[in-house]
Amino acid sequence: MLLKEERKIVYDAAQALVKGGWVTGTWGNVSFCNRERELVAITPSGLPYEDMTPEDVVVVDLEGKLVEGAWKPSSETPMHTMFYREREDIAAVVHTHSTYATAMSVLNQPIPPVIAELALGVGGSVPVAPFARVGTEELGRNALQAMGNYQAVLLQNHGVVTVGKDMGRALNLAAIVEDAARVYIIARSIGVPTLVPEEDIQELFELFKGYGQEKK
Ligand SMILES: [Zn+2]
Repeated sequence: MLLKEERKIVYDAAQALVKGGWVTGTWGNVSFCNRERELVAITPSGLPYEDMTPEDVVVVDLEGKLVEGAWKPSSETPMHTMFYREREDIAAVVHTHSTYATAMSVLNQPIPPVIAELALGVGGSVPVAPFARVGTEELGRNALQAMGNYQAVLLQNHGVVTVGKDMGRALNLAAIVEDAARVYIIARSIGVPTLVPEEDIQELFELFKGYGQEKK
């Protein structure tokens, strides 16, 4: 079986999304890229995460073509593979419909840096990519453009995408983005939120880059 290890990583991440309450039904998808082999392990389309096994995770190439697996790959495969083609610095993509972040995407408003953690991975506000239909190349392109060189983006009227050089980081960021959106919305319901000062955001972002160093 191809990418056994990567399939397990994707499976574990999918279970974490369910546990976190960040996906509803079969919506949301996760992938992990093996850069050496230029193959991607990705969640299958339409299969509830609760019923999934690591073997159900499918393998596609960088163009999204099915290489191995019993199921159709996620409907958002074009977006995932576009990220791997265009962003060589990443190996994991997490897409959720977590409630508060999606609420911000419906307002078409970036999530401002209201908590320090957001500065760590995002370097400021989480931007909103313009609306595009589910499963299209356009969705991927808009997301990629709006994200720039950072690691998180909202998809207008849809959800969130986070990326990372490993799955832990992409998942962690998905949690942070949702948390920041929740805090922001609650704070705004009774007043005007204060933002983390700009100079601290930059400092935290630089710190996080170093913090994530791999062991040599
Ligand atoms: Zn989606």
